[in-house]
Amino acid sequence: MKEALIHGKSKIVYQNHGHNENGSDTSLIIKFTDAITAGNGAKKADIAGKGRLNAEISQILFEYLADFGGIASHFIQAVGDGEMLVKQAEIIPIEVIVRNTAAGGFSRKYGVAEGTALDNVIIEFCRKSDELGDPMMNESQITAIGLASVAELDEMRRQALRINEVLLQLFSHANIRLVDFKLEFGRCGGQIILCDEISPDSCRLWDAETGERLDKDRFRHDLGDVLKGYQEVLDRLQYARYF
Ligand code: C5P
Repeated sequence: MKEALIHGKSKIVYQNHGHNENGSDTSLIIKFTDAITAGNGAKKADIAGKGRLNAEISQILFEYLADFGGIASHFIQAVGDGEMLVKQAEIIPIEVIVRNTAAGGFSRKYGVAEGTALDNVIIEFCRKSDELGDPMMNESQITAIGLASVAELDEMRRQALRINEVLLQLFSHANIRLVDFKLEFGRCGGQIILCDEISPDSCRLWDAETGERLDKDRFRHDLGDVLKGYQEVLDRLQYARYF
C-alpha cells in the first residue's frame, strides 16, 4: 500500500519504493489529482481527467525547458496515468511568480486593467503558506527569517527569467499568450532545481487571438468547461513542441 508523504490540494506525493544500482532510491512519485481549488481552498471541485492533463502538460514543459533552456528540474519520467517520478528535493518555501501581462492579483492590488502589457517582466516572491495566504515578501524579509539566501534568490530569479524566455517562445508557437505563472524550486545535490508543476493550474494562458482563458481562471470565474481549456493547451503544446 502506497503511503502518502504529502497530501496537497491538487497533488499527492508518495515515496517510490523502487531500487537503483546502489540499492536505495530516494525518488518520489507525484500523483496529479482531479481536485481543483481557488481562493486558497474556498472554492473546490473535482474535475475528472484534470490530473492526467496537468501531468502531461507539466511533463512536456519540463522536458522542453531541459532540452531548449538547459533548466534542470525534478522531473525524471512519467510513470503512469497522471503520475510522474521526480527527484527528491528540499522545497524552498517561496513561490516565484513571473508576470508578462497584468492580470489577477496584480491587477486587483495595483489597479492595472487585466491585459495591460508590462514594460518589464515582473518577478514576485511569496511565502508558500496556506495559513498566511501566500503573502508577498521582499528579499530582506526572506533572508531575515532564513527562508532562502541572497544567492539562492538570485539563482531563482535567474532561472525564472530564463524559464520565461523559453516558455514565451514555446507558447507563442502554440498561439497562446503566457500572461503569468508560478514556479517552485528545491535544493538538490547542491543545486537549485525547478520543482512542483507548470500547468494551467499554475499559469494564466490566453488564446493569442481571442483572449479566451484556457487556464484555472475558467474555474475561478466560471468561464466555461475547465477540462476543455486544459485539453486545448495540451493539444497545442503537443504540436508546438516540435515546431
Ligand atoms: O493570483 P495571482 O495573480 O497572484 O497569480 C499569479 C499566477 O500565479 C497565476 O498564474 C496563478 O495561477 C499562479 N499562482 C499559483 N499558486 C498560487 C498563487 C498563484 O499557481 N498559490
